[in-house]
Amino acid sequence: MHTDLVAALDIGGTKIAGGLVDGDGRILVRAQRATPAREDGDTVMRAVEEVLGELTASPLWARARAVGIGSAGPVDASAGTVSPVNVPGWRGYPLVARVRTVTGDLPVELIGDGVAITAAEHWQGAARGHDNALCMVVSTGVGGGLVLGGRLHPGPTGNAGHIGHISVDLDGDPCPCGARGCVERIASGPNIARRALDNGWRPGPDGDTSAAAVAAAARAGDPVAVASFERAAQALAAGIAATATLVEIDIAVIGGGVAKAGEVLFAPLREALRTYATLSFVQRLTVTPARMGTDAGLVGAAAAALAGRADATAAGV
Ligand SMILES: [Zn+2]
Repeated sequence: MHTDLVAALDIGGTKIAGGLVDGDGRILVRAQRATPAREDGDTVMRAVEEVLGELTASPLWARARAVGIGSAGPVDASAGTVSPVNVPGWRGYPLVARVRTVTGDLPVELIGDGVAITAAEHWQGAARGHDNALCMVVSTGVGGGLVLGGRLHPGPTGNAGHIGHISVDLDGDPCPCGARGCVERIASGPNIARRALDNGWRPGPDGDTSAAAVAAAARAGDPVAVASFERAAQALAAGIAATATLVEIDIAVIGGGVAKAGEVLFAPLREALRTYATLSFVQRLTVTPARMGTDAGLVGAAAAALAGRADATAAGV
């Protein structure tokens, strides 16, 4: 028996991935292009259309019932527009309308990329079985999303759970978003590396000054590298504890390149959580590494499309 499929798009500053995904989250058809992130908006859209073209050319396309899009943000799901920080050609860009010119009458769900990975972790990853969860990506930036009451909580515009830009240092350094002392300004990979360099850490002979190199130095016992990860962990803990106190999550799932540092990050993070998550109802909060790999964005976009379709069916649409 043929089951329904959904089309999924994962749009980031580096790549545009597409897939036809079944109800178990299996990606049956894949397509991918590099994102021409420095080009004008219509050139970027042509890369999306090429990805969609490969999907619609598949004999399986006839089984697609909905389209899910996870995009670098900010997004505006209510308007169907996107303004990814790292794709300057797209500002209030009508992505949903442009996708519809290819996909016709299929319903389209747009969510931010942090919400998409949250949908994926809740469906098939580390947040599975948790009705109240925060999922995060700690990488070049810091993003996230929420599951509340067993359901994805994208918020009205698709950006809810954007923990990277809540302030945990009131008079802290200015953040590119316009605020001060944001979690991202302290805990992102580039900021971990910058702080280590500022405090006297020096890279090895290969000249690698990435957060991964700082993590390797921390594992080898370099105190400046250790301190830079401890500061990042402290910022993450404060943001996670604030989130848990507001909405009673019981798990925080952390993925992205910085999370690959493993215990260099997670050990001080668990320690710092004891400082900030103090009230009785947040003391059992756990933090755990993400389980979904590089397909998380695509699988999460598919999950959003399937959930939207389930809602429409339940409403008799
Ligand atoms: Zn910020």
